[in-house]
Amino acid sequence: MIYQRSSQLFAEAEKVIPGGVNSPVRAFKYVGGTPIFVKEAKGAYLYDEDGNRLIDYINSWGPMILGHAYEPVVNAVVEKAKKGTSFGMPTEIETQIAELAVSMVPNIDKIRFVNSGTEACMSAIRLARGFTGRDKIIKFSGCYHGHSDSFLIQAGSGAITFGSPNSPGVTQGTAKDTLLASYNDLEYVKSLFEANKNEIAAIIIEPVAGNMGCIPPKKGFLEGLKQLCDDNGTLFIFDEVMTGFRLAKGGAQELLGIKADIVCFGKVIGGGLPVGAFAARNEIMNYLAPLGPVYQAGTLSGNPLAMAAGLAMLTELNLDAEIFTRLEDKTAYLEKGIYEVLVKNNIEFTINRVGSMISVHFDKDAVYDFATAKNGDNQRFKDFFHGLVKEGVYIAPSAYETWFITDALTYEDLDFTIKAIDKVTKTL
Ligand SMILES: *Cc1c(COP(=O)(O)O)cnc(C)c1O
Repeated sequence: MIYQRSSQLFAEAEKVIPGGVNSPVRAFKYVGGTPIFVKEAKGAYLYDEDGNRLIDYINSWGPMILGHAYEPVVNAVVEKAKKGTSFGMPTEIETQIAELAVSMVPNIDKIRFVNSGTEACMSAIRLARGFTGRDKIIKFSGCYHGHSDSFLIQAGSGAITFGSPNSPGVTQGTAKDTLLASYNDLEYVKSLFEANKNEIAAIIIEPVAGNMGCIPPKKGFLEGLKQLCDDNGTLFIFDEVMTGFRLAKGGAQELLGIKADIVCFGKVIGGGLPVGAFAARNEIMNYLAPLGPVYQAGTLSGNPLAMAAGLAMLTELNLDAEIFTRLEDKTAYLEKGIYEVLVKNNIEFTINRVGSMISVHFDKDAVYDFATAKNGDNQRFKDFFHGLVKEGVYIAPSAYETWFITDALTYEDLDFTIKAIDKVTKTL
């Protein structure tokens, strides 16, 4: 495959955009080489600026769960655009998507729409802090909740109870209110509660982790966290930006049968337009401005184009009784195919999968938290990534990402992918 035009476009972009990209993971820093510029996409395929076709396993990092340029979504946006694109006044469609979301997701009465997953998580912890009157939150290493200050925290050196900033620009003052634990380590979270009695406003977690590859919660882990929250007057926040409207109609809460106090959304809920949302029962949501004292706002929040895309997407997912099983079946088929090929080619690996979230780790040992996710063979991943691109298969350019499966993938596409993986891993 030739990447002449992409390289030129990237060189031009680098002059006027930091690193040539508007979000770092697009820059290929992890895998090397220059990013591929997309020209257009349809269904399961990307068409790049050099005229290559790629089977897409990123799907805009999740939103295109029904495929690119999905007609009902495109039509809804086009029709809405003709009637004005933003008003800063309430519109009926905001209520329509809110009603639908509340009917699909368990344990929520009200939902507030924002513009990204970052905003949703940022607002959710402010709400939790306001509601509980406490400052500290617990997050898990390797879980991503967007780029707001409170989440850009890493394990502090030596200090067992608080973290330190992992980006310049995040203050120590902010970092001290974020406590860090390892995914699937319930005992450590218990010790955090003991050391910070009546100070923890919320635990925020990806109920199935997807930002260090896919990592399922161990049996009893989420249940244990929920119990700790209930016992300590702490709110349990599910960051379902990735899992929401993907693992089931009602997201991970439904799939795993666990009740969260606040739920965050993004990605699928916007159908490919910039949408995030957070939701909870009345008691909590009524704490939000203008009803309550916790401030949160947005000029473009509930934007009509974004709501039209989201409503069309959720409507499709709600009406299609088979969609989540179909996605899971396709992903299980892919998993089996990859498994057989990697065994045949003598590659050491672990595959983690929950529903339509899947990741391949180049490490033979179990991957259950950030530390074990980091053990993978990075060089091997880079070669795997570039090899697959050559074969016309596009996965995320980082070993710490889940593959996002779309319903637009056919079994022929999956067979094509498995064959490509066979060819590439033979030479690794
Ligand atoms: C993508 C993601 C976010 C951030 O959403 P943005 O829309 O990129 O701001 C937050 N949490 C999780 C779990 C995500 O996967």
